[in-house]
Amino acid sequence: VNDELTCSTCDWTAAASPEIWRCPSCGSVIELAAEGELDVDALHGEGFARYSQWLGIESLASLGEARAPLVELASAPGARIKNEGLHPTGSFKDRGAAALITWLARQGVGRVVVDSSGNAGAAIAAYAARTGIECEVHVPARTSVTKVRQAEAYGARVVRHDGPRSASTDAAQRAAEHSGVVYASQLWHPAFVRGVETIAFELWEQCGDAPEVIVMPVGAGSLLLGVARGFQRLRQAGLTARTPRLVGVQSVTCTPIASRFASANGPEPGVQSIAEGIQVQAPPRADQVVAAIDASGGTCLVVADAEIAVKMRAAGWEGLLVEPTAAGALAGLDAARNRGLIAGDGRVVVIVTGSGIKTLGSLPAQAIDKERVHDI
Ligand SMILES: [Zn+2]
Repeated sequence: VNDELTCSTCDWTAAASPEIWRCPSCGSVIELAAEGELDVDALHGEGFARYSQWLGIESLASLGEARAPLVELASAPGARIKNEGLHPTGSFKDRGAAALITWLARQGVGRVVVDSSGNAGAAIAAYAARTGIECEVHVPARTSVTKVRQAEAYGARVVRHDGPRSASTDAAQRAAEHSGVVYASQLWHPAFVRGVETIAFELWEQCGDAPEVIVMPVGAGSLLLGVARGFQRLRQAGLTARTPRLVGVQSVTCTPIASRFASANGPEPGVQSIAEGIQVQAPPRADQVVAAIDASGGTCLVVADAEIAVKMRAAGWEGLLVEPTAAGALAGLDAARNRGLIAGDGRVVVIVTGSGIKTLGSLPAQAIDKERVHDI
């Protein structure tokens, strides 16, 4: 399975090769040709590995992943949050990393290079360590020191870069031009997105069906795309009839997806957001992400750092530490309700993408008046 790659745009196809991360013919993003079969009887065991057959990736590497719980929070009124911060490295990126690293390991890859704002680097470093693959991570210089140290703790070599997020991407791609080094890109590689489909499968298992609305942060969009594809496959397999409305949330400082929807204003250039996980200026899969949101009847909103900070605090007061990027999704839930995009008390899920334990340095130092929280 998954022994063939196809182009998302032109008619290029080829046998799977770990060195290919974009279409050599037209430069577009590529896809895995085979999908695997959604056979309910195949779902047994624990961790992401229970989805190996569904993903079409045999013997998925495992660090003993939990089912990310659904939790009610007063700071996410009328919704439940899916707490992806409880995965082995503390973020949803473990889903994509497990799939991508397994896919590469099965082709004999011994050394990978990645670019990351932090969470993906840590996740890929951990699963690479688990699989015996050497890992090098390129990060923006401003990345949370905890995330950098985390990747180093898994044995990865971390290289910091000044300038925009894209400087790390360029450096990782250059490093992969050396023989024997493979670019294991969370931004580009289809096996990463394939792994993220497991979040849809798990929501379906936990809810007994698809939620009506899913609110989530959008950076490169692998999360939103994985969710959309996972539910599409569940529909095709006859396991649900519902298409969840997908509401993406971006920081007002970086809006490549949101600016394609009428609901958002333009970006505020030059401002550095605390939501470091969603500072991707040119997502390679932007067109696919916009199409997935459109097909679901959803939209993409923007939130400001002040709103993110308030939600980080509010979640903490309820006993839950969320990263700023995830707090952005909680703020996005409010924005969606204020705009009338979420009616009544339908089944709404907000994806909390990562643990706030890694980003305590971003927690606003000054006390926020608890009385004001509900006014913002
Ligand atoms: Zn192509």
